[in-house]
Amino acid sequence: MTLSEVLDRVDAGVAPSLELLKAYCRLPSISAERRAQSETAAFVRRLLTEEGFEAREYSTEGGPPVVFGQQIVDEKLPTLLMYEHYDVQPVDPIDEWRRDPFDPIIDGDRFLARGCGDTKGNLIAQLLAVRAWRQTVGQPPINLKFLVEGEEEVGSPHLPAFVDRHREILKADGATIEGGDHLADGRPRLELGCKGILYVDLVCRTAKVDQHSSYAAISPNAAWRLIECLERLRAPNGRIRIPRWYENARPPTAAELRYLRKTSLRVEDLKEYWGVRNLRGGSDSYRVVRTLVYSPTCTICGFVSGYTGEGTKTVNPAVARVKLDFRLVPGMRIEAQLEKLRDHLRVEGFDDVEIIAHEERLQPSAISLKERVVRAAIESARDACGRDPEVWPWSPGASANGFFNEVLGVPSLLGPGVSYDGSNYHAPNENIRLTDFRLGARHSAAMIGRF
Ligand SMILES: [Zn+2]
Repeated sequence: MTLSEVLDRVDAGVAPSLELLKAYCRLPSISAERRAQSETAAFVRRLLTEEGFEAREYSTEGGPPVVFGQQIVDEKLPTLLMYEHYDVQPVDPIDEWRRDPFDPIIDGDRFLARGCGDTKGNLIAQLLAVRAWRQTVGQPPINLKFLVEGEEEVGSPHLPAFVDRHREILKADGATIEGGDHLADGRPRLELGCKGILYVDLVCRTAKVDQHSSYAAISPNAAWRLIECLERLRAPNGRIRIPRWYENARPPTAAELRYLRKTSLRVEDLKEYWGVRNLRGGSDSYRVVRTLVYSPTCTICGFVSGYTGEGTKTVNPAVARVKLDFRLVPGMRIEAQLEKLRDHLRVEGFDDVEIIAHEERLQPSAISLKERVVRAAIESARDACGRDPEVWPWSPGASANGFFNEVLGVPSLLGPGVSYDGSNYHAPNENIRLTDFRLGARHSAAMIGRF
């Protein structure tokens, strides 16, 4: 009975919350440009305080403040930690926006503004859920904590130090980490973790200087040499050729596959959307989604060598550079995979290829379907939306789950949230659907009740 009253209060509170979201989205908190950081942190702190949280801003060394708030109802009750970020992506190409990205508007069932999906809308929906509980029974039924940082979009450089220093206040029994989108029909999607990324540049230098290409008959070519190297990394079928690469990759469980069989991903839709003739996994949607989730990848993100301008220039380049991302599945570790890559290139004789590993490192990590936070998220999706959520064992993208699961020791999942797959994260015309905002807030409210 109480829960249905809470959910009614969520529904009644949607309109004023959308006004609050507009105010939040008017703050141009682009972390890459260090814009509006202190105002936005202060805004978030006020939002939390207004909903009964004991909230404050913590300064970081050289970064924007981290906002933390807690509402401890009873030490004996479980504690749910919610992580979001108040920063947003840059807005270029600005010409492709239908309007000013920081002048939010509601247009039919869409709310349009930079950051509304990623992740300002989540915070406002979660606070609406908290308010509904307070209006119904005076306080939330569990302890709640919010961690809202301002640098997620630039790789959270100051978050690890913050967490290290404030481990005690971040203790919780489960965490929800941004994300949380909906399918076309409004069904929520939960992801129980993420893949990780090892990102490297490979630089091949075969000579001191570029040469006239007439010397190609006698002199090495850096681009060809790097291509030979790349062919030793990955087979045409996508399989990675580095020895022991798959050694620790976590295999699927029967329960995970049962959920994956029910996913809504359709091969035909993806092929049409991307204009791609064939997907790995074939024409069977279940096989494709299984491949998408469980396959580590080696991706050429960019390749530069020689002359790439207009017209012709006959040159035999001395240097070639490729950017590679290796997506790793849970069980693998970035450092160990990097060592395997180094060993492989050495054994294969590519001493002329330098490996430059990038510092931003998100480890792969995922939790089990049996975790309390997962059970609560699944059951509450039924309360909030009247049907089962879609559940992925982990996201094909990278996220902060590893940080929460392993560094902080708090089991975490992605969702509930307010976006959908047309939300245009990081792209022009970022938007959410009002129906998803309402469902996301209901889901959070029910989850607070179930946890
Ligand atoms: Zn983002």
